[in-house]
Amino acid sequence: MSFVTSDHEEFRSAVRRFTEEEIIPIASDLDAKNEEIPMEIITKMAEQGYFGVLFPEEYDGLGLDNITMTIVAEELSKGWLSVGSVMTRGVIMGTLLEAHGTDEQKKKYIPGLATGTVLPAAAFTEPDSGSDSASMIMKATKTDGGYLLNGAKAWCTYANRANVLMVLARTNPDTSLRHKGLSMFFVEKESAEKIVHPNIKGEPIPTVGYHGMRSFNLAFEDVFVPEDSLLGGEENKGFYQLMVSYESARLQTAARAVGVAQAAFDFALQYSKEREQFGKPICEHQAIRMKLSEMKVELEAARQLTYYAASLKDSGKRCDLEAGMAKVKAAKAVEFITREAMQILGGYGYSKEFPVERYWRDGRVISIFEGTSEIQHEVIAKAILK
Ligand SMILES: Cc1cc2nc3c(=O)[nH]c(=O)nc-3n(C[C@H](O)[C@H](O)[C@H](O)COP(=O)(O)OP(=O)(O)OC[C@H]3O[C@@H](n4cnc5c(N)ncnc54)[C@H](O)[C@@H]3O)c2cc1C
Repeated sequence: MSFVTSDHEEFRSAVRRFTEEEIIPIASDLDAKNEEIPMEIITKMAEQGYFGVLFPEEYDGLGLDNITMTIVAEELSKGWLSVGSVMTRGVIMGTLLEAHGTDEQKKKYIPGLATGTVLPAAAFTEPDSGSDSASMIMKATKTDGGYLLNGAKAWCTYANRANVLMVLARTNPDTSLRHKGLSMFFVEKESAEKIVHPNIKGEPIPTVGYHGMRSFNLAFEDVFVPEDSLLGGEENKGFYQLMVSYESARLQTAARAVGVAQAAFDFALQYSKEREQFGKPICEHQAIRMKLSEMKVELEAARQLTYYAASLKDSGKRCDLEAGMAKVKAAKAVEFITREAMQILGGYGYSKEFPVERYWRDGRVISIFEGTSEIQHEVIAKAILK
């Protein structure tokens, strides 16, 4: 791939080794028990510097590029989607801070994000406000020295383990103002194995897959946040501030999908060479060859678009459109490839004996979170019709 240099490939080999040694041996077992990623894996990821790939060295990061970040997200997700996802929250918060944070906020949080000691979660979605995020109603009411947050958030992934929640809330109570009345806050909480904040209650949401990270419905009751936790110190700019993080978030989501798709493809390919029916390996039957070929085409198309978007970002250009297209393509590819992988394994594909059913469940979420595919298509259509 022309965007990827030998240095990048060297980095990829190291992440691949990490995934093979640390993640693959435990992923299916923990997924089956519905258990989260062990904290020691997160500590080891931090030791490898994975949380700091994109952050400048002055903030204790590695100061590397988006291609490297894409490689890390892809390779870790090959082991387990949830592991690839732990990092991407940091990318969202880091992008927000770098673009809009005050100097104090940058100094306070970025070194921790880069070294994996600040673990954030995003509380944007609400029970009645998903794709239409401008319709959210959580209130941030001015009080002495800060704000009081009241309302409900939905689907806050990692809320239990995060020590900072990024919360988008309404500083202007007039809901008709929609996106113009929203502000971004950082809510600090103790990191622990549960929601530890006296005024936030959380209920985990049982899910089809993505078991390594838990998502929560959260209820905020008079949660006090000091003034300096308002991003950039500016009210009513939260929605616009968040937009800068979209391209990175979508890019990394596409990379995660490519990782899961690659894992499913590799498994099915190997299986098709070993499994014999009608006196020959199933990969010698034309219908299976056709599937493998189509899977490979979809996989490479998704990968190329993803790395292309990353290379644009590295060249200093905006890549909202390309990142959106990469996410849509990768979401389709991972659904197609994991489904076909399951088909190639036949009954074994539907069993818990092999990881293909996990890839199939995990891959399904890509077209839903970080902006649904329908919304991505809307954004792409707007851009091309402009
Ligand atoms: C596993 C998981 C983890 C998540 N983690 C987080 C998290 O950490 N933080 C967070 O804030 N949120 C998180 N989310 C929420 C996620 O971002 C939302 O589910 C997503 O934005 C869609 O919102 P919704 O579920 O309310 O669906 P809705 O917005 O109600 O959409 C329902 C359907 O209608 C379609 N639709 C809606 N509007 C349009 C339109 N204008 N045109 C065409 N189709 C449309 C959608 O594409 C979808 O198919 C997570 C979700 C999941 C499943």
